[in-house]
Amino acid sequence: MLSQLALSIAESATLKLNETAALLRDKGEPVIHLGGGEPKSRAPIDAIISCTSVLNTGEVRYTAADGIPALKKAIIRYTEQHYDRAVKPENVIASSGAKQSIMVALQAMLDPKDEVILPVPYWVSYPEMVKLAGGVPVPVRPADGSFEPTIEDIAQAVGPYTKAILVNSPNNPSGATYSEEFVRQVVELCERKDIWLVMDDTYNRLVFDGRQPTNAYAYTGEDVDGSKLVIVNSVSKMYAMTGFRVGWAVGNRDLVKAMTNIQSQQTSGPATPSQWAAVGALNGVQNSIEALRLTLQNNRDVLMARLQAIPGVKVVKPGGTFYAFPDFSAYEKNSQKLADFLLEKVRVVVVPGKEFGMEGHLRVSYCGTLKEIKDGIERIQWALDPHAPNELFLGSRKLVRDWL
Ligand code: PMP
Repeated sequence: MLSQLALSIAESATLKLNETAALLRDKGEPVIHLGGGEPKSRAPIDAIISCTSVLNTGEVRYTAADGIPALKKAIIRYTEQHYDRAVKPENVIASSGAKQSIMVALQAMLDPKDEVILPVPYWVSYPEMVKLAGGVPVPVRPADGSFEPTIEDIAQAVGPYTKAILVNSPNNPSGATYSEEFVRQVVELCERKDIWLVMDDTYNRLVFDGRQPTNAYAYTGEDVDGSKLVIVNSVSKMYAMTGFRVGWAVGNRDLVKAMTNIQSQQTSGPATPSQWAAVGALNGVQNSIEALRLTLQNNRDVLMARLQAIPGVKVVKPGGTFYAFPDFSAYEKNSQKLADFLLEKVRVVVVPGKEFGMEGHLRVSYCGTLKEIKDGIERIQWALDPHAPNELFLGSRKLVRDWL
């Protein structure tokens, strides 16, 4: 018999969809993957050079559990440059992805049944990660039905068991960039109530229309060691290095020490070649981030125009990330049913909103090519529009509508 914990944890919906899409593609099915969570550009050349030079020595060893000194140094510089904070090596832990940094942070913070507040929509993994750490996820739905909670929404959810608030802006899945005002208020609330604030800044650099990345440190008067603010980052998205699995957290030294102890027993330090790749990316030429940002902004604009052309679909323009979170409830309120239908009928992969705590929505990624975005939305529209012609060609294959 499996453990209660194991039985309570769901498979990652997004990773599962990747598998389904890959299987269908292998069978020659013309799948369009609008469910993906990774940029298609190449890793920066500086990352590759730095990584291959350690591989070429043939000496690939264990590292310190919290990362090699060169990586921590690069992270310290990044923190100074982008957060205007001077931190020490004791304030930094490198992990196998932002995912692991968040996981060990939660394990270092939570006692059984402690609560973690998650603004809705939340990243698909947060509730399961909180449960894995023994805690209780407390989703907080913005009262106005928008993608951005107000501080009143959050404050109402704070109770005696609240240990932490986990905030992700720019947000996966909505693409919302929370206002500076909200971030300031949530920093202040956490300080007043003495609760941890984890800012998941994974998409912080991928913001559009002249927005600046948010810096939660700007709103605390505390120094890093006196603060319960933890900032998580990753090379995954901004450098298109998802497969390297390197992320990091910056926070007070007691927390980072506890996270390091936990990580040292779980997995040890991140893979050594990956850490060197991250050093190369962080210290190297930075223009790939801007190129990616501009590509994504253009992709977003194309996606917005197409989605807005579908009658009944409500969509909010994302301020960052590479996701949009349109409301398809005019067609189908059950997002799982709708996503299954689109995959079955027109071979388009999207992620059901219910995985992010919001029914009726679908998460649509725009990290692929413009052609994928255009064709994907065209297929979705064809599948849903009762007035569309009866046939649609996918390459040489003819689809004939047998529904509606
Ligand atoms: N946080 C958010 C909001 C994400 O979307 C992701 C990746 N999908 C992660 C963390 C994890 O990133 P990493 O690859 O660094 O583990």
